[in-house]
Amino acid sequence: MDKELKKKLAGRLRSYGLPGPLSVMEICGTHTTEFFRTGVKDLFPDRLRLVDGPGCPVCVTPNEYLDRAIEIGKSGAVIVSFGDMIKVPSSYSSLGAERAKGMKVEVVYSPMEALELAEKDPDSEVVFLSVGFETTAPGEAAVALRAKERNVKNFSLLPGNKLTPPAVKALLESGEVRIDGFIVPGHVSSVIGSEAWEFIAEDFGKPCVIAGFEDYDLITGTLALMDMLAAGESKLVNGYARAVRPGGNPRAMEVLYRVFRAADSEWRGLGPIPSSGLEMRDEFADFDASRKFRVTLPEPREHPGCRCGELLRGLILPVDCPLFGKACSPERPVGPCMVSTEGPCAAYYKYGR
Ligand code: SF4
Repeated sequence: MDKELKKKLAGRLRSYGLPGPLSVMEICGTHTTEFFRTGVKDLFPDRLRLVDGPGCPVCVTPNEYLDRAIEIGKSGAVIVSFGDMIKVPSSYSSLGAERAKGMKVEVVYSPMEALELAEKDPDSEVVFLSVGFETTAPGEAAVALRAKERNVKNFSLLPGNKLTPPAVKALLESGEVRIDGFIVPGHVSSVIGSEAWEFIAEDFGKPCVIAGFEDYDLITGTLALMDMLAAGESKLVNGYARAVRPGGNPRAMEVLYRVFRAADSEWRGLGPIPSSGLEMRDEFADFDASRKFRVTLPEPREHPGCRCGELLRGLILPVDCPLFGKACSPERPVGPCMVSTEGPCAAYYKYGR
């Protein structure tokens, strides 16, 4: 971003007169990190509070999902995941701890690598942990389609994907926390389309901005939100029009819904939310690890003292957790919000202290 322009916009942001103390919520782990990393959060006027919502996929995945992955791993299957999940505490262990005891756990950068592992090792069952929002789900669906096409019988996905608009709707319906406006993620919106967020303004009377991830996007997105808040307006503003169309990416959505269908889903901190997750369609049952492996799960439990649940509902900030930076750090995470680079506790630990 041009330095002069940034200076000008930053000055406007800093000197903005707001009608009163206001809270805005971002619901994307990348936004959590980028607001800190770019320094844009430091430019906020005193009366504007930025709270983190349920925007980090690893953080909102309940312990029961990891408990299931671990039990499947104990049956001899190779568990394949993106790196963040390995360190996330489950109810009684973690994939990393189980790997140290001998479980086969592999880290990949794309779900396609997991399929390749299965093809190279036809005698092993390979299970990919399909966790993420609308941004990653089309890629995971594409891999399931490829596995079916190639008849790779030893490959499956453990579906844990979530859909973001139903979670925002659930938060708003609960009325538990006062949120005056929303900043929603550009990448998710490029898949689902700007229209998917219209309910925030239309049904709940809250202003909402779709924002990208550069400092320019963050500043102009926040300014657009503040303009609406100051004027008492509730609209949806697409601040990332270079990538987001009203109807999103129909090709990605078509691939996603060819493999998955919407289903009720459990979110850490938010509980069960109708139609907020993805389950595999019956045609893909052979590639669905939750149906392929019948395992007995331990009683799920949260870690005593960890306040990730309240954090993901926007009730507290990471620094309000008594364990933050003491018993809980990125080296020794107690909860998932301290693990992922997109986790709010990890972002506050790295940039916000
Ligand atoms: S600081 Fe650690 S224990 Fe506290 S909410 Fe964050 S992840 Fe959980």
